[in-house]
Amino acid sequence: MPHESAMSAGGLRDAANAVPPRGGAAASARPGGDHALAILDVSRTFAGMRGSAPTQALLPTSLAVADNDFITILGPSGCGKSTLLRIVAGLDVPTTGEVRLDGRPVRGPGADRGMVFQSYTLFPWLTVEENICFGLREKGIARARQAQIAAHYVATVGLAGFERHYPKMLSGGMQQRTAIARALANEPRILLLDEPFGALDNQTRALMQELLLAIWERERKTVLFVTHDIEEAIFMANRVVVMTARPGRIKAEVAVPFPHPRHYTVKTSPAFSDLKARLTEEIRVEALKSA
Ligand code: ADP
Ligand code: MG
Repeated sequence: MPHESAMSAGGLRDAANAVPPRGGAAASARPGGDHALAILDVSRTFAGMRGSAPTQALLPTSLAVADNDFITILGPSGCGKSTLLRIVAGLDVPTTGEVRLDGRPVRGPGADRGMVFQSYTLFPWLTVEENICFGLREKGIARARQAQIAAHYVATVGLAGFERHYPKMLSGGMQQRTAIARALANEPRILLLDEPFGALDNQTRALMQELLLAIWERERKTVLFVTHDIEEAIFMANRVVVMTARPGRIKAEVAVPFPHPRHYTVKTSPAFSDLKARLTEEIRVEALKSA
């Protein structure tokens, strides 16, 4: 089994394409076409500690996410991206407003939202396979079925041969692949990723972007992906949502016109550079404001 740094991006794509999708692309199509996720005037103010002033992290923010959307939320550090994502995940509660998933208000964490964080969050005492099966076991799914599902997602993220490895035996990229497989295995309604590749070296990061994009292109997930990396935001998304400096709000939504399947070479195209220049300007203004 080659180490991941020796794997070509093509190899990763092949890995992602190796197994037929479970559920199929049509599974996410819903009659009515309403938004899968609605963020409605969500704001968040954190109470000050011991008499200090409260922190307004997020101004009232609204965002509609449709089925099969791949939306990246781009903003300078500290603008409230993680706060917004944590509220969608049900890990934090908004000060005002609400989040609705398929029309139902979010009241806490749930298996309908799969979360992947920047920091490695695998259970260190469980193997790759056991980590992937964690949510399935909680749901009481039969062991044989768990193994089937795990095998599918191990192949999807290109980790065949590493099923019995423990997290500490894996590179950062492989740990994040396991985390993605674990999130996907629960078949969440929406996948929430908070700078999932932020701790990886540039080469691994680029390969992971391609891997996740290939999974999305094949299985048509609905994705909300937070990043402060402009190139990553453009490459991954069909829509980039740009946030202001703290207190954050959405200042622009930019459609990304590049067709799928999207190849990494699009990053060097003139149209990509134009979009990157435009977003760089937007973010620079915000970074200056917060500096
Ligand atoms: P980002 O993810 O965009 O870098 P965050 O959402 O993590 O930003 O944070 C936005 C702001 O809210 C920051 O000023 C941060 O210090 C503050 N903040 C985040 N979480 C808490 C918390 N639990 N208590 C107090 N302040 C917080
Ligand atoms: Mg953050």
